[in-house]
Amino acid sequence: MRVASLGSGSKGNGTVVASGETCLLIDCGFSLRETTRRLARLGLAPGDIDAILVTHEHSDHAAGVGTLSRGHGIPVYATHGTAASGRLGECAVLERFNAGEGFTVGCVTVRSVAVPHDAREPCQYRLAAGGRELGILTDLGSVTPHVVAAYRGCQGLVLEFNHDSTMLAAGAYPPALKRRVGGEWGHLNNRQASDLLAALDGPALRHLVIAHMSEKNNSPAAVREVLAAEHPAWLERAHWACQGEGFGWIPLDD
Ligand SMILES: [Zn+2]
Ligand SMILES: [Zn+2]
Repeated sequence: MRVASLGSGSKGNGTVVASGETCLLIDCGFSLRETTRRLARLGLAPGDIDAILVTHEHSDHAAGVGTLSRGHGIPVYATHGTAASGRLGECAVLERFNAGEGFTVGCVTVRSVAVPHDAREPCQYRLAAGGRELGILTDLGSVTPHVVAAYRGCQGLVLEFNHDSTMLAAGAYPPALKRRVGGEWGHLNNRQASDLLAALDGPALRHLVIAHMSEKNNSPAAVREVLAAEHPAWLERAHWACQGEGFGWIPLDD
């Protein structure tokens, strides 16, 4: 199994997971043209994607789902709540499930995990193939025991380090947006993400990606400071996902 990203952050997300002949795109927050351009960077074309898995209907995850699905006949998987939001656009095929349920696409076994986030029925994903497991975990406002249990033992983890609480408080966001982002159904701050990493870290975990960083309310320096204090072993080993480039292929098989 290998993982790459088209981009990560509040302006658009898309994570590509490939194993054997199966290629999945988790979320698509980019226009069809931009998605095509970003896929080409990874050596892929839209027609290579076997399914689009959606985490929730916020536009940075869902804006491009309908056009990509219709344009290339790609089935979409989403929770009933996400599908009912009406924000995915018309899809070629829409497979609905309840957050927490699992399903299989090609050779990839998918488990959806319910998370606290301010959408209709948000979920995140844990994917298994070829004896490897990958956890994708962004867009959650708080860490529940359910989430910790659901993501233990992965070889790869794409984890949200959304904001630095001090930068958010001092920044230019209006008060209501600050409360939303920093609240229980918003996004993880660096401290919460670090505590969650401590709970999930273990001998199995080989690849960590720092993801969904806010461009306005966070900085690599702020994340590095937390990692240096709490997770020095990850300071030089972690991969970084950015808005413009995402990240290149990371093989989980080594
Ligand atoms: Zn998001
Ligand atoms: Zn969101």
